[in-house]
Amino acid sequence: MTMVRFERVSKRYGAGKDALSNINFELARGEFAFLTGHSGAGKSTLLKLMMLMERPTRGKIIVDDQDLTTMRPGQIPYHRRKVGVVFQNHQLLFDRTVFENVALPLQIAGYTPAEAARRVRAALDSVGLLGMEGRNPIELSGGEQQRVGIARAVVNKPALLLADEPTGNLDPELSEEIMNLFLRFQQVGVTVLIATHDIALIERMGHRRLILDHGELHCSELQARKSDSS
Ligand code: ADP
Ligand code: ADP
Repeated sequence: MTMVRFERVSKRYGAGKDALSNINFELARGEFAFLTGHSGAGKSTLLKLMMLMERPTRGKIIVDDQDLTTMRPGQIPYHRRKVGVVFQNHQLLFDRTVFENVALPLQIAGYTPAEAARRVRAALDSVGLLGMEGRNPIELSGGEQQRVGIARAVVNKPALLLADEPTGNLDPELSEEIMNLFLRFQQVGVTVLIATHDIALIERMGHRRLILDHGELHCSELQARKSDSS
């Protein structure tokens, strides 16, 4: 039932103050939620902990029944394959084609060329960009570039899809299109968590909201459920 579980998680960088302090929440499998909060509230840090790009200072993180806090380095690549990530600035490589950009995570996973090509086309199809394989991302619009970034994030068919300000550079209409794409992945069973400070968009879309404020989490469901889960 549960895809993500944070138990009393804190994260401190170096000798600074806590970037995240005592975070408790759960995401159910197939849930769609937003993560909001001011700049510096800890949103990116929370996402990085789920991808094991950072380790917590205290507490326990479970993703897809795996305890990340005890995971051995050799298991990390397998974990990352289960987690797709979309960045604001999409981080596409402009010296490669759309196909090559989307195929990058598959090369690491070691697919045959034929299977990789099939998966890249399926991922591009899922974001409405089938036929764009041979183009250079630099020729595409901002919205199309972001779709390529999403295709790359889902090409491994991740169980969990994370996005860090995925609409930060897009106008409201394009932002809504991109959000609708994320909803389509939720509809095929993917758990989706989107960090954004686009409050207007969130309010139009509804859905559960996790709110970070100076490293503390508010309005998460687990707070209401704490008494029966512990
Ligand atoms: P948000 O994504 O909400 O803007 P971040 O997670 O990026 O917030 O940052 C949370 C806090 O942690 C901030 O005070 C930020 O300065 C600090 N921080 C983030 N990354 C690092 C890092 N690599 N080293 C030191 N401090 C960091
Ligand atoms: P299959 O391997 O089952 O034939 P495909 O590789 O053809 O599936 O992909 C089916 C579509 O579902 C693709 O468009 C893919 O991007 C999308 N997808 C991405 N992530 C997931 C997921 N976690 N579960 C199901 N479908 C996903």
